Amino acid sequence: MSDVLLQIGKNAQARKVVHALGLPIPLPVPLRRARGPWRERPLADACMVVGASSGAELSPVIAETLAAAGANAYWTGSDSIAAAFAAPGEAYGRPARALAALGDNERVAGVVFDATGLRDVAGLRALYETFHPLVPRLAKSGRVLVIGRPGGKGPAASAAQAALEGFVRSVAKEIGRGGATANLVRVEKGAEARLGPVLRFLLSSRSAFVTAQPFVVDARTKSEGDKPPFVRPLEKKVAVVTGAARGIGAATARRLAEEGAHVVCLDRPGDDGPTSQLARSIHGTALLVDLGADDAPARIADVVRALGGLDVVVHNAGITRDKTIGRMSDKQWDEVLAVNLGAVVRTHEALEPLLREGGRVVCLSSIAGIAGNVGQSAYAASKAGILGFVAGLAEALAERGITVNAVAPGFIETRLTAAIPVAVREAGRRLAALGQGGLPEDVAEVITFLASPGAAGITGRTVRVCGGALIGA
Ligand code: NAD
Repeated sequence: MSDVLLQIGKNAQARKVVHALGLPIPLPVPLRRARGPWRERPLADACMVVGASSGAELSPVIAETLAAAGANAYWTGSDSIAAAFAAPGEAYGRPARALAALGDNERVAGVVFDATGLRDVAGLRALYETFHPLVPRLAKSGRVLVIGRPGGKGPAASAAQAALEGFVRSVAKEIGRGGATANLVRVEKGAEARLGPVLRFLLSSRSAFVTAQPFVVDARTKSEGDKPPFVRPLEKKVAVVTGAARGIGAATARRLAEEGAHVVCLDRPGDDGPTSQLARSIHGTALLVDLGADDAPARIADVVRALGGLDVVVHNAGITRDKTIGRMSDKQWDEVLAVNLGAVVRTHEALEPLLREGGRVVCLSSIAGIAGNVGQSAYAASKAGILGFVAGLAEALAERGITVNAVAPGFIETRLTAAIPVAVREAGRRLAALGQGGLPEDVAEVITFLASPGAAGITGRTVRVCGGALIGA
């Protein structure tokens, strides 16, 4: 069922009426979302302000990424940093001077702050000095991004770096009602060259429903060169998407195909109609298999072998059988664990040998797997199991250049969530920083990014796609 508040929010006249009447209705802002394949310059003409702590180490990567993505960057921070990294005529020193250069009416599309040089508590003041004047000028669906390190040498540096997470999560909650997001990226030593694509994704409108969380970029996974392709990154790649007949799986199959992949669309035999139709429309292959069947992994492997190999696997198929533990039948428990977790492990075991170097595995978890939920003990157990699965698998696959990650959606508008009672559904939508549910396409964008060569720095992790849901954060 469609989100009535979001529909009202889309209508400027209706918004005015709600404001004029002083009604206490928090109308969510429609999120800006890009459609179609990735473009070379996703930030074309976007006005980005970049700040940096003293001793910041990643400003060159930020500068290069923003320039390549087409953004107009205004540099702030100490005058020397601004001067060192900005093109002539673009260094503005203090944030107020960058704002003055922008003029009164121009909004800031994003603020990036390089905090990698932060080594003590006093240094944290730079966060205040940068964001205090800039956040009120952030555009709708704007972006806040803080770049830090996973730890620090000594307790003071460690405290300063840890503080960044509380800061970012709070700012995300403050700016969410304007459709804007805030995230933290912690870059391990040696992984600096892998930051660019992550930055590019998080600053773009592809990450519309990703907010209030830390990312870690590391150098564990072997990677072919530091210049991954941004346009048609999945050209000549073979992907398998389970549960592709509808919802998140269908959106993901479409996006992977748009970026060049040949997609095997897998769903149950009973879903022949939508699965075959989708496969035809994206020039992929339909595969009708019940993942619970004993021979399912072997049948998938046969199809992949016939296609010559495998690059991307998206373990998306999932079911719910919600009942409190005392009322749940053993059949319900078994079904949920078998499809959501058992089938993922079995299918992976069969497909792992077929994965080519640079392969990508993405498994669907849920914020219920992080936070737990009433009536979802089996579902949450299966989805928490996924988190352990990817964390446990990453190290072994890193040597072959293969990453494995989990994506944990929050409230996404699909058949699965349309079936839940209206009060719970409303709570699911509103108890998020962005004040609305996500779309299957929002999750598909994150999966597509994780499936791309540019995501080599992310492995063994869980990415929430939850709009800053209050639970599971
Ligand atoms: P959906 O019900 O719309 O689609 C799931 C698909 O999986 C269906 O097409 C179904 O036929 C297929 N499937 C189920 N069991 C199968 C089996 N045994 N063999 C083959 N195919 C099977 O669900 P969705 O909302 O698109 O969710 C996709 C994934 O995302 C699931 O793993 C779900 O748990 C997870 N998730 C969804 C949400 C949400 O809000 N929609 C939130 C968190 C996590």
